[in-house]
This record gives sequence, C-alpha cells and structure tokens, in this order.
Amino acid sequence: MGKLDGKVAVITGGSSGIGLATAKRFVEEGAHVVITGRREKELKEAAAIIKRNLTTVVGDVSRLEDLDRLYAVVKEKHGHIDVLFANAGAGTIAPLEAATEAHFDQTFDVNVKGLFFTVQKALPLFKDGGSIIMTSSVTNVLGSPGFSAYAASKAAVRNFARAWTMELKDRKIRVNCVSPGPIDTPALEKTTGLTAEQAKQAAVQFASQIPMGRRGKPEEIAAAVVFLASDESSFITGIDLPVDGGLAQV
Ligand code: NAD
Repeated sequence: MGKLDGKVAVITGGSSGIGLATAKRFVEEGAHVVITGRREKELKEAAAIIKRNLTTVVGDVSRLEDLDRLYAVVKEKHGHIDVLFANAGAGTIAPLEAATEAHFDQTFDVNVKGLFFTVQKALPLFKDGGSIIMTSSVTNVLGSPGFSAYAASKAAVRNFARAWTMELKDRKIRVNCVSPGPIDTPALEKTTGLTAEQAKQAAVQFASQIPMGRRGKPEEIAAAVVFLASDESSFITGIDLPVDGGLAQV
C-alpha cells in the first residue's frame, strides 16, 4: 500500500529539481501524476525517468491560458484532483540598487500571480476534499540580502496559505507550505549566476551557516511533501514546514 494510492496529483515545475523528485515519490506511493513545466525537452526526460502513471503538459504558470489548458487535460484524463503541489518558482540574484522592473515583474508573475491562479483554477476539480502544498522558501522568514524581491514573493506564498486555509476549510481542502533551505537543484546555480567553481566555494561557505552543515537534496523536500499530501497529515493545515537543516531556527 502506498501513502497516495489512487490519488490524482498535479505538480507545477515538475520536470526538474524538487518537483521532479516529488513526482517520482508520488508515483512510487501510488498516485497518478500530471506535471507541467515550460520546457518540452525536460518534460520528456522526466517521462523517461518516471515511465508510468505520469502525464506531461507544457505550460507557463504565469500564463492563465496555459493553466486552463493544464486543467482541461487533468479533467479529461482523471476528472478530478486530490493533491496539488504548486511548486514552480523563479528568482535570480538582484540587489536592491541593481534590480530591474523586468526582474521584479518576472519574480512576482511566476511566484505570486502564477501560484495564485494555479490554485484558483484547480479548485473546480477538487471534488471531495484534498491537499494543496505550495513551495515557499526559508527566505520567507529570513530576509535575504540580494534576493529581496524573491524573499517577498515567497512571503506572499506563506500568507496565501494562512488565508486559504480558512477560505477552503468547508471544502475539506488542507493548505500548507513547504519551505526549503538551500537545496541542490539546477535552480541554485541559475539563481546565483555563479560559475560552477564559484558556486562550489559559496556552497562550502554557506553550508557553515546551516546547523546541519550541508545543503539539502530534492528528495528530502519530496519526503515532506508526501507527508503533507497524504492522510498522515490529516489534522495539519495552514502551516509552513521548513525543510532547511535548521537554517530558519538560528
Ligand atoms: P528547478 O529549476 O530545478 O525547477 C524549477 C521548475 O519550475 C522547473 O521544472 C521549471 O521548468 C519550472 N518553472 C519555472 N518557472 C516556471 C513557470 N513560469 N511555469 C511553469 N514552470 C516553471 O528549481 P527547484 O530548486 O526545484 O525549485 C522548485 C521550487 O523550490 C521553486 O518554487 C523555488 O523557488 C523553490 N525553492 C528552491 C530552493 C533551492 O535551494 N533549490 C530553495 C527554496 C525554495
């Protein structure tokens, strides 16, 4: 018996990093999974890894017509959703004095507007309760010099969870956030804009600030998401679960 036997799950940003690791775990736990991401090539690679019980849909969560297309596929294939992992996110380093309007807009378009409508447009497909998990970030409490727009967008995600917990309680939909610390995914290098060697050095330095002394793995976030998606967390809603080696606590 898997923890998610027979459940229908949608994962945004499911073709890489945390989303891909979670899609793998969800399928291992018995779920039927629909993933979306912007790049067809990455989605095909994900399908080659996962092989069964997986549907891929190319789409950008900041484009409302793409979300409509995603949910039309889910409706036709499965008729409903039990679990939504709203995970797609964007953000690059942009100190206050250097950030451009385009950078600000892109960060908020994906992380705030995109996530808002990812959840709103899924709601008609939640028929019998369910679980929504959203990827925030440890930066939602820490603040992050150089990443302030990103951190603010992730604080918005945390706040959505508080509001939607109340708005969706009568429909028996639980709403929680997972907040990763630094996790080894392709995003980490992309966001910092460092060379591989610089990133390695920065990682060693940064790891010393993390109580557990290392960066996390995508699978360690996936494990937390499986818990929040499954009935094992049936009395948990509205929380922000940090998975960060203790970073948010120091
Ligand atoms: P990643 O780059 O490996 O994966 C990101 C995924 O999101 C990709 O599949 C990408 O195609 C997708 N995506 C990005 N913008 C999209 C859009 N507009 N529409 C649809 N899909 C889009 O990154 P990751 O580290 O796995 O990031 C996943 C989430 O975790 C993000 O929300 C990120 O902000 C958050 N996060 C990551 C870290 C970290 O250290 N890696 C830390 C805290 C939070």
